[in-house]
Amino acid sequence: MAEQFIDIGANLAHDSFDDDRDEVLQRAATAGVGPIIITGSSDSSNRRAAELAEAHPGVLYATAGVHPHHASDYSDASDTLIRDLVGKDIVVAVGECGLDYFRNFSPREAQLEAFRRQLEIAAETGLPVFLHQRDAHDDFVEVLEPALGSLSRAVAHCFTGEGESLREYLALGLYIGITGWICDERRGRHLYDIVSIIPDDRLLIETDAPYLLPRTISPQPKTRRNEPAYLLEVARTVAEARGQSVEHIASITSANARRFFGLEAASASAG
Ligand SMILES: [Zn+2]
Repeated sequence: MAEQFIDIGANLAHDSFDDDRDEVLQRAATAGVGPIIITGSSDSSNRRAAELAEAHPGVLYATAGVHPHHASDYSDASDTLIRDLVGKDIVVAVGECGLDYFRNFSPREAQLEAFRRQLEIAAETGLPVFLHQRDAHDDFVEVLEPALGSLSRAVAHCFTGEGESLREYLALGLYIGITGWICDERRGRHLYDIVSIIPDDRLLIETDAPYLLPRTISPQPKTRRNEPAYLLEVARTVAEARGQSVEHIASITSANARRFFGLEAASASAG
């Protein structure tokens, strides 16, 4: 049987996919990528992600959450929407949520509040949480650590940090999501060097499409748009960096993703 790769984070609700989403899904299937977890990051993308997952049972799943960039918009209605959506079998995690102090698109106080409220939803529902952190490590750990006891599972998505924060996340019990950042020989070299630290049972892979097109894709598409089919490039680079086979990476990351998101259970109860 051909290898299967699960993309744990693709922003397929993004409007850059509106014109050719079916072709994008077809290329993913041909490449052996699936299921795909669509990242929800705002009220509108949460609705769209869940709609897409409902239209493609067993192939697409969704998360529901508010990205720290949109934390200023986190309202009681956002909170209610997430709670409604996570009641559906095809919505398999809370997030993405967390802190992003890189550009502070939302004030830090709003980010902290939205993050705490989403961790509460994850704790109450028992769903895993899909975490985003950039340039906010200390505050992130300070908010997350006391919540971990009541969370089922958590993944640091798009991990791009250094070895020290990687070890800290692993000690906290987090899963680690690796994107095409690792394929960037300028920005991602350190990631290539430390990715072996991640135990086999905590490693997940993702594209973060349409963002983070792997630099090793050749030729580079004119649009610069990333898509789930390119997950293979992430898997190849992770395999090379860890000294493991691509087959092994496919097998462990798929098993981890199924366990993390409870995919078998979700598709079984969806009938
Ligand atoms: Zn993110």
